[in-house]
Amino acid sequence: MSLVLVVEDEAAIAELISINLRHAGYDVTIAATADQAQAAVDAVLPDLVLLDWMLPGQSGLALAKQWRSQPRTRELPIIMLTARSGEADKIGGLDAGADDYLTKPFSTKELLARMRAVLRRKAPEALDTAVEIGGLRLDPSTRRVTKPVGGTLREVKVGPTEFRLLHFFMTHPERVHSRAQLLDRVWGDHVFIEERTVDVHVKRLREALAPVDSAHLIETVRGAGYRFTQPVGSVAA
Ligand code: CA
Repeated sequence: MSLVLVVEDEAAIAELISINLRHAGYDVTIAATADQAQAAVDAVLPDLVLLDWMLPGQSGLALAKQWRSQPRTRELPIIMLTARSGEADKIGGLDAGADDYLTKPFSTKELLARMRAVLRRKAPEALDTAVEIGGLRLDPSTRRVTKPVGGTLREVKVGPTEFRLLHFFMTHPERVHSRAQLLDRVWGDHVFIEERTVDVHVKRLREALAPVDSAHLIETVRGAGYRFTQPVGSVAA
């Protein structure tokens, strides 16, 4: 389930948004100030942030700029929420690093549609869309991993952590992910987990994929981390 951080100082609006998001299947954390938002992000990296522009103290705009300047939060999907609608303000919000911009008042339908669009672009692992690479198919809605082998559809049995790890790999293929990045993106809360935990789960995932001849899709990149890749020459015609 995807975690959305709602940063909004008006309690009634924050509550209304969170009710609608929970109803749509998201987990929600609420922060009323930039400091609270920073603390929430430090604890658990959300899948997406709805960030109000006007906050008491540090503004949402300044917070977005700050997140974009730090490696851990550089890719964090951010949608700015604001009462402003002037063109200069929109440009300011997008320049600060927001992925999209929503002017209050907005409908829940539009909010959810824009969130899906931003997630599709930046965090496809947060969506329930099935992914398929090299015959291997992962379906988040049914939580099944399958691959046809010799004309028979075989199911790959993986634990919940290996499932999330594989989902992240398959939605971010051909890129090297460090252990720290994987802890942030797959485990969420990285604070109390050692990096070698990642190695343990990668090993289990490879063992689960071996019977369907797919363990090689996860490469170890020495000194850097892991990469999910379809080796050149193995692409089916
Ligand atoms: Ca506000």
